[in-house]
Amino acid sequence: MTGTSIAEIECEKCKTVFETQVIEHIDLSEDREIIKALRIGKANRAQCPKCKKVMYLDRSIVVNFEPENRIVVYDPNATSQEAKESLQSEYDSIIAFNEILKEIGAETEFSIFTSLDDLKPLLDEYEKTHR
Ligand SMILES: [Zn+2]
Repeated sequence: MTGTSIAEIECEKCKTVFETQVIEHIDLSEDREIIKALRIGKANRAQCPKCKKVMYLDRSIVVNFEPENRIVVYDPNATSQEAKESLQSEYDSIIAFNEILKEIGAETEFSIFTSLDDLKPLLDEYEKTHR
């Protein structure tokens, strides 16, 4: 299921602050259309209600490559080692929550990507395999 939340953002043109729906989690098996947008960094789109400026948000997105055992966090801002470690420990604490999640975690390949160039080959491979 695609998971969304409401975020407050500032228009880069007229500086109006507004609330918009943002994508936080994507299941590729349920939303094939999103692959195209994801590949070009346009998964999270927001439009300023005042000046109508369209912006693409640099936010972290969790991508679940169902039915493959692969979960990727794409976060263009997690370029520091600390940021990566904090994402990793967030994931570790989620799967440590109970036995079922621990089992899933043991079978799942978890990785963090900060660059679209690194993410693209995985998306291409997924599209080829699961047409
Ligand atoms: Zn604006």
